[in-house]
Amino acid sequence: MNLSDLARDFQSEDECIAYFEKMRWPSGVECLACESKRISHITTTGKTKKIRRLLECLECGKQFSATCNTVFHDSHIPLRKWFLAIQLLSQAKKGMSSCQIGRTIGVSYKTAWHMTHRIREAMDAALGNYQLQGTVEIDETYIGGKPRKDLKTGMHVVRPKIPVIGMVERNGLMRFQKMAKVRSKDLRTMIAQNVSVTARVMTDESSLYDKLPLGLNLKHLTINHSQRQYVNGFIHTNTVEGAFGLLKRGIVGSYHRLSYKHLQRYLNEFEFRWNNRKEKDIFSHILIRAAKSNPLPYALLTAPEKDTF
Ligand SMILES: [Zn+2]
Repeated sequence: MNLSDLARDFQSEDECIAYFEKMRWPSGVECLACESKRISHITTTGKTKKIRRLLECLECGKQFSATCNTVFHDSHIPLRKWFLAIQLLSQAKKGMSSCQIGRTIGVSYKTAWHMTHRIREAMDAALGNYQLQGTVEIDETYIGGKPRKDLKTGMHVVRPKIPVIGMVERNGLMRFQKMAKVRSKDLRTMIAQNVSVTARVMTDESSLYDKLPLGLNLKHLTINHSQRQYVNGFIHTNTVEGAFGLLKRGIVGSYHRLSYKHLQRYLNEFEFRWNNRKEKDIFSHILIRAAKSNPLPYALLTAPEKDTF
């Protein structure tokens, strides 16, 4: 699906709602209160004269909308605009700024910012508890740290560098994870959680990787960058470095100011696109995930969180 397919297939809000219903309830709409499948579609006009399309349970009388309790919960933005935003964000290899998405679909920056975070929420944890298999390259990089002009004060501020660990299966799936500090023991825990003990791990010569979780240590191969050895036959970390390259170009080009708090969502976005690069219908895939994701109210998204620096 590309943008023109999207424009052709979803010309009205009704078509979008019908499609989302199909993604959310593949075997027919189910009441959110009593799970009955005896549902009728109704339209009401509220005080603002806006048409509301609701579902009404013929069993218990509950009225709800197709987007109720999903990531689109309580949104006043038409699904048609949501669909466009999802399409834009899922196809942009290096991401797309909220500014540009806002301009393209015709909403304010603040609205676009909230929308894109909710889309990232739907992209989150797509791998679940999956552990990376086969040959897995692991490396660390740092995001930020360059002076940036603060838009409010006009002063240049230096944000702390945030360490990010990349774990990438060769020809397969990957995971990016932000860390508060890079310490050997934290790395070990993270690798134990994300990499199968049957995998063969490749890293650079950094002493951070001297002690891997038991079982992985025996199959651990290193490449010595300090001696200008970048590829030694099949021992290399080119895949994970390529993934970091894409992430950094995206962050420089599209996402200029990333806080520690929100960084993981951006990482999830890059991870999701990488892991679904062969998926034919990534758009529907995100919609299905959006239907299963919890609401993410603006207040929760912007609530202060203590940075771990
Ligand atoms: Zn019911």
